[in-house]
Amino acid sequence: MDNRSATVAAAPPLAGQIPGWFSEEWAGEGSGISFRLRGKLADVQSEFQRIEVFETERFGTLLTLDGLVMVTSRDNFLYHEMLVHPALYAHPAPRDVLIIGGGDCGSLQQVLRHREVERVTQVEIDEQVTRLCERFFPELCADNGDPRATLHFEDGIDWVRRAPPGSYDVILVDGSDPLGPAAVLFAEEFYAACFAALRPGGILAGQTESPLFHLDLLTHVHRTAKAVGFVDCQTLFFPQCVYPSGWWTASLARKSETLQPPPATRFQGMPAMQYYTPQVHQAAFAAPAFFVRALQAAGLDPAGAAGQG
Ligand code: SAM
Repeated sequence: MDNRSATVAAAPPLAGQIPGWFSEEWAGEGSGISFRLRGKLADVQSEFQRIEVFETERFGTLLTLDGLVMVTSRDNFLYHEMLVHPALYAHPAPRDVLIIGGGDCGSLQQVLRHREVERVTQVEIDEQVTRLCERFFPELCADNGDPRATLHFEDGIDWVRRAPPGSYDVILVDGSDPLGPAAVLFAEEFYAACFAALRPGGILAGQTESPLFHLDLLTHVHRTAKAVGFVDCQTLFFPQCVYPSGWWTASLARKSETLQPPPATRFQGMPAMQYYTPQVHQAAFAAPAFFVRALQAAGLDPAGAAGQG
C-alpha cells in the first residue's frame, strides 16, 4: 500500500545522496522529496519508531517517523485543518471528540477552536512523539493545557475496543502511514470498534493517503466503512506539499445517516483559518473522475463520491 522509504543525507553523503539534505524516496514511484537542512535537532529510537527532528532552510522544523515525513512548520496547516474542520462542521453539535494518533498535537489544536466541543481525548501510542513536539513544535502544542483536552498514551485500537458504545460524536484518526503501529488503524476491526464507539449521526474521519499513489487503500477504506455499517463514506481531496505526490485525502464515514453540506448558519462565528473555508469544504468533496471510476470498478456506490455539492 505504501512503500515509502527514506535515506537521511544528513549523515556522511553516500553515492547518490545530496549532502546537507533530508530525502524521502517514495519507493516504487520514482519520485521523492528533499529538504535542505540547517541541522538535526533530535534523533530518538522510541519503543515504536525512530523519531527525528530537523531544522530545514525553508520549511521550518521537520518531524519524521521511521524516516517518513510527518509534519513541517510551514505547511502542516493544510493537513490539520482539512482533517479536522470538515468533520466537525459536518456534525451539527460535536461535544465529545476522540483523536487517535495526532502526537504532534496539531489536530488537537484545531479541534479546540470549536467552542461547542466539551471534551477532546487524544490517544497517541508514542508519548515520545508528543514530548519532542512540545519542545520543537511549541506552536502546535500551545493549547494542550486546555481543560477540555485529555492526552493518553496507548494503542488507539485498544482504546476504541474498550470505549462504551455511543461515547463520541466525532472520531479523528490522525495516524501515520499504514505501516508499523499504524497498520491496525486501517483494519476492519478498528473501523467496527469506531462504529460502535460513535453516537448515532457520529462521524469517523481519517487521513487516507494519496489518491494518486494509494487508490487501492482508498477503495479499501470505502469498502471497509460500508462493511462495518457506516451509511455513507466520502473522501475529500486537498494539497499537502510534503506528502507523497503532494496530493492527499481524508475520508469521512457517517453512522446512521448521510453526510450533508453544513448549513451556512453552522459557520457563524467560525475563526479565521489558513486554508479551510465553507467554499473549500464544498469543493474538497468534488471527487476526481478516476476516483469515481475506481469506486465503481470496486463495486462500490460512487454516490457518496459525488461530493456534497
Ligand atoms: N500527519 C501525519 C500523517 O498524516 O502522516 C501523522 C501525524 S502524527 C505524527 C501520526 C501519529 O500516529 C504518530 O505520532 C504515531 O505515533 C501515531 N500512531 C501510529 N499508530 C498508532 C496507534 N496504533 N495508536 C495510536 N497512535 C498511533
